[in-house]
Amino acid sequence: MLRVIAPIFILLIATMQAAGALSSPTQNLAQAIRYRTISAQDTAKIDYSQFEQFNAFLHKTYPRVFSQLQVEQINQHSLLLRWPGSSSDTEKLPVLFAAHMDVVPIEPGTEGDWTHPPFDGVVADGNIYGRGTLDDKVGVIGLLEAAEQLLAEGFVPERTLVFAFGHDEEIGGLEGAAAIARRLRELNLYFEWMVDEGGLILSDNPLVEDKPVAMINVAEKTYFTLTLVATGDGGHSSTPPQVSTIGRLSAALARIEQNPFPSKLVGPVKAMLEALGPHAGQPTKFVFSQLWLTGGIVEYQMSRDRLTNAYVRTTTALTMFNAGVKENVVPQRAEAKVNFRLLPGDTPDYVVETITGIVDDENIEISFDAWSAAAPVADYSGSGYAVIKGAVEAIYPDVVVVPSLLSGATDTRHYIDLVDNIYRFHGMILATTQAKGVHGTDEYIGVESFEASVKVAKQMIQLGAK
Ligand SMILES: [Zn+2]
Repeated sequence: MLRVIAPIFILLIATMQAAGALSSPTQNLAQAIRYRTISAQDTAKIDYSQFEQFNAFLHKTYPRVFSQLQVEQINQHSLLLRWPGSSSDTEKLPVLFAAHMDVVPIEPGTEGDWTHPPFDGVVADGNIYGRGTLDDKVGVIGLLEAAEQLLAEGFVPERTLVFAFGHDEEIGGLEGAAAIARRLRELNLYFEWMVDEGGLILSDNPLVEDKPVAMINVAEKTYFTLTLVATGDGGHSSTPPQVSTIGRLSAALARIEQNPFPSKLVGPVKAMLEALGPHAGQPTKFVFSQLWLTGGIVEYQMSRDRLTNAYVRTTTALTMFNAGVKENVVPQRAEAKVNFRLLPGDTPDYVVETITGIVDDENIEISFDAWSAAAPVADYSGSGYAVIKGAVEAIYPDVVVVPSLLSGATDTRHYIDLVDNIYRFHGMILATTQAKGVHGTDEYIGVESFEASVKVAKQMIQLGAK
């Protein structure tokens, strides 16, 4: 009996595979999660074989994309895909779609807190669980699913479309996005606009009760860190100096924390509030429509909450403090790091100058590592913004679409000289509480949310290709 049944089963499975019955966008995202494409801060600890396997999986899963587009592996693990446009109109500049393949590690000791193991790619209760479901395999898989479907439908773009998937965004993007950007310069490609990770649809924005809000981020904050070193007399703790290096540096850090940068309403945040206003209840509706009058109150209210404070201020975070090697030795040196996230318009020079003034201590040396400026604020009345907005509204007719400011940093800074306008948005919808999973415990995406994000990506490609 078994001899008869087994071949039938094999035949059946083969038929299902040919028809694509065993592969759905959801299963593909779940499978993508199972590759541990983890960016460790210490690059010697990165397991590159996982990136090789992940790339092989993409090649196998998206056969049309990888046979019909121009494919280049950059630094072995990053991907550059070009889909040539049919138009001979040189005015129609290409459009760039970006996302990243790497994920952050699981904080040691928290693995057991996950509802489902972070790299098992479990689909349960209408959700897909795992590291990368939101940041940012959703972007890579969403765009590839959309492109594969469009190729199957015989879609031909008018403009050239380019896909860039870096493999080291979480540790700065120097091997991935920066190298992809170099290759794009070699190819003489310049883009009308690009879209990367960093924006999404919030189902429960507190200001608009009954409608989800899509935030297309048109700017991001610049990441900048200062190192402060106090030096002075050390020696035996039985005969201590009057002021120790630790005391001196602690006092300076306390002054820094007690003197935050002034709050202000920058362009993208003002635009966000003005766009939200008409959909909010009173008195918010009135307040947001008269920002020339009410801006000060809004700034004050926003600065009182930790999350909204980041929208109105160049933030100051004391993140590291190192001093001392033994309890009975006064150290001759104490070192601290302070991480700033700069609002558009604020410069590192301004931060150094301000902090030097606050510290006001010649025994404390202030220095900084290399940094790169965030992209200029993108045009929120431009064609790229209109495409993304149109794509969201086609799939989510009830959503309120607003421009916004991203407090984190993305790979986009590597592409600044290659593109007129940079936007950050992937079309998934989630609740505020779910965002905690990004870089944290229990990262997950709803199956429906992911499948709709593929549709949004498809719309973005179709509308963007015109
Ligand atoms: Zn990311």
